[in-house]
Formats: sequence, structure tokens, C-alpha cells
Amino acid sequence: RTLAELDAHLVSCRACPRLVAWREQVGREKRAAFRDETYWARPVPGFGDARASVVVVGLAPAAHGANRTGRMFTGDRSGDFLFAALHRCGLANQPESTGRGDGMVLDGVRLVAPVRCVPPENRPTPQERRRCAPYLARELELLAPTLRVAVALGAIGWNALLGSLSEQGWSVPRPRPRFAHGAELALQHLDGGPRRLTVLGSYHVSPHNTSTGRLTPSMLDAVLGRAATLAGH
Ligand code: SF4
Repeated sequence: RTLAELDAHLVSCRACPRLVAWREQVGREKRAAFRDETYWARPVPGFGDARASVVVVGLAPAAHGANRTGRMFTGDRSGDFLFAALHRCGLANQPESTGRGDGMVLDGVRLVAPVRCVPPENRPTPQERRRCAPYLARELELLAPTLRVAVALGAIGWNALLGSLSEQGWSVPRPRPRFAHGAELALQHLDGGPRRLTVLGSYHVSPHNTSTGRLTPSMLDAVLGRAATLAGH
């Protein structure tokens, strides 16, 4: 399968009844500010470079962000914070991501998530996470030829990412290292070849973290700058 084929399969997935019902309910009810828009209300594919050297792994689409626009991290405050940082670090051609057709181009970066449908209260169940995991795994496999760095935003992304990489033969230590902002983990592929991958941890870009100063622009810039350096940008 190619990335385009994976995305085509993903966007018609209805495997999680609770999330299918929720994504469609949010899309019908809408937020007042967006009442004239047609919400995407489907699973959200990865966004960015199909030959990415850096992936950024979030959590799940936001109700009125990616679940509305259909583009990962686009249309909410989390995305505003992330895209501005990607632009400052030379990984995006513009600082604002508003929706399809806005001209946003990511250079060497792809944004992905371990859960592709918006969960109520941003909390997917363990079963929903397990069900969605193969989409992230397959996307990572398809990106593997060019991938050098994976940035996990928050503990859920970190654990999902390390779980996937471990199953794909990367040297993830046991017990699995715990998530921390600024964590850095250098992995080798156990096929004995020359492949290397570095995993970096950052606090998630949610307003819960960014409005309280737990994650500042300069903290995120440091992680993304490190990712760009490791990936040879
Ligand atoms: Fe399918 Fe993933 Fe959405 Fe569940 S969360 S319905 S597995 S795309």
C-alpha cells in the first residue's frame, strides 16, 4: 500500500462505534463560530511530506479543529501553536494553518496521531487506541525509508509511538523509557542494518499546557530545532 491508499482506507473507517457516533454528532451540532461550515467528521489522515524525515505524533483530532477541517492539527489553538513553531524552525512555509487550500506546505515533516477520530473529552479508551494502532504503524512503515526523527507530543503519543516502533524491530529498551519533555532516545533497527531513528519527547501543544506556561514557544522550538538538526535540515 502507498500512503495515498492508506489514507483512502483510513477515511472510511468505522471500526469504533463510540467515536463514529461522536465525530458525526460534533459535525452536526457544530460550534457557533463555525455553523456555516461543513465539518469533516471522519478519520483524519496524516498531513505533510510523504518523504518526511521527521514525524510529529500527537494524540487525536480535536472536535472543532481537525474534526472540522479534516487536516491534522488544523483549526484550533493547539495547531496554531505547533504550526507557528514549525515555521520558526524552517519546517513549514507559513505560520498559520487554517484549512485546505491555505497554501501550507511542510518541508520534511509529517503530522500523525495514534487515534484518528475525535474522542469525547479527548480520551480514547484502551480498546479504541488498540484498534487504531495499525494505521500509525503502517504509516511509520511507509515513511521508514526517509524517517530519521519522531517527536512525540505527550505521554500517549510517546507510548503509542514506542509500542509501534518496538513491534517494527526498533531497539526500544525494556522497560519502556517513560515520557518526559526533552527526552531523547536513540534507536537502532534490529535487522543489523545502518538504520537509526531518534525519538524526542515534548509536552503536548494543548492550551492546557501552553496557556499555563508549562510548554512555552521556546521550549517547543528547542525540541523541533533538535529534530531538524538530527534530520539534517
Ligand atoms: Fe477507525 Fe481509528 Fe477512527 Fe477507530 S479511531 S474508527 S480505528 S480511524
